[in-house]
Amino acid sequence: MIKVPFLDLKAQYLSIKNEIDEAVKKVLDETAFIGGFHVREFEESFAKSQNIKHVIGVANGTDAISIALYALGLRKGDEVITVANSFIATTEAITAAGGKVVFVDCEENSFNIDTTQLESKITEKTKVIIPVHLYGQPANLDEVLRIAQKYNIFVLEDSAQAVFAEFKGKKIGNFGHISTFSFYPGKNLGAYGDAGAIATNDKDLAKNARMYANHGRISKYDHEFEGVNSRLDGIQAAILEVKLKHLNDWTEKRRAVAKRYNELLGDFKKIILPKEMFYAKHVYHLFVIRTQKRDELQDYLKENGIETGVHYPIALHNLLAYQYLGHKPEDFPNANKLSQEILSLPIFPEMTEEQINYVVKTIKAFNF
Ligand SMILES: *Cc1c(COP(=O)(O)O)cnc(C)c1O
Repeated sequence: MIKVPFLDLKAQYLSIKNEIDEAVKKVLDETAFIGGFHVREFEESFAKSQNIKHVIGVANGTDAISIALYALGLRKGDEVITVANSFIATTEAITAAGGKVVFVDCEENSFNIDTTQLESKITEKTKVIIPVHLYGQPANLDEVLRIAQKYNIFVLEDSAQAVFAEFKGKKIGNFGHISTFSFYPGKNLGAYGDAGAIATNDKDLAKNARMYANHGRISKYDHEFEGVNSRLDGIQAAILEVKLKHLNDWTEKRRAVAKRYNELLGDFKKIILPKEMFYAKHVYHLFVIRTQKRDELQDYLKENGIETGVHYPIALHNLLAYQYLGHKPEDFPNANKLSQEILSLPIFPEMTEEQINYVVKTIKAFNF
């Protein structure tokens, strides 16, 4: 038996230990804990790497969404449309910003927003659409943008899982009015604590977001309105600056693991493999397969030393937290069905050929 973790943060740290330790020590020596050089440096590097003009570091990816909504001018009671199969952070942030959550179903093959159902959810109160680039694959941004333009609605890309992913050859985060990233440790670009960012090509939105994230001010005590305290700290910024330099390499390694899984499991008909859409460069934050025997397969893999995950086991509209919306499971049939069939296999840049082969062999040995 070989142990295969779901991801290996330790292996990644050890591969860059000297660089990281040095960067952290530098911040400690400078006591540049909040704001300052390291935060600015990372914001600039990240902006350049994503080809976006403005980046604002914030405390986490959930705050990034609610601050971005605030910057877009969301008012109490405005409706925000998003998918029923995301992490709760997406919808929590809508509520936190005063918005009303409106769900739309996902497509079965891409796991992303079903744009053919989008127009039926739009009312005169709809202010923002949030496509989530789930698992690292861009949503169909052409269609989202076409519909948003037609109705004069803002688009916020929840890019938490999709740093460096591309839609038709262009990095995500550049399509909507504003986009948000998470640097939670397990994300493709992970800090060593909570961290996040807002990105936009619009100067005014950037200024609004930056002020809102920092008590409604630009300089020390000139508060123009009440905001929140949600800032990226110096130590996380310095760590992210180091890790960003490796992100291209890590992204290609994730894609190589996905390619191996696809080669080795391509003709194994008992499971459904994830589909990379023609318009997408998928960055495989997660490699999500489907089977009707999901729970049994997960237990079997666990018994054999392989850690997996389910993202997410309960679709948002089925959560107790959203019972007040009064939805039935079958209101969003794809999100509902997928939540029972999906299984995220181990995938991380440091994964070895031996680990990949063992996962594949163990899946094939399971009695479906
Ligand atoms: C991780 C995640 C977030 C929230 O990010 P945090 O940094 O954990 O607050 C938001 N949306 C999606 C889709 C995520 O996966």
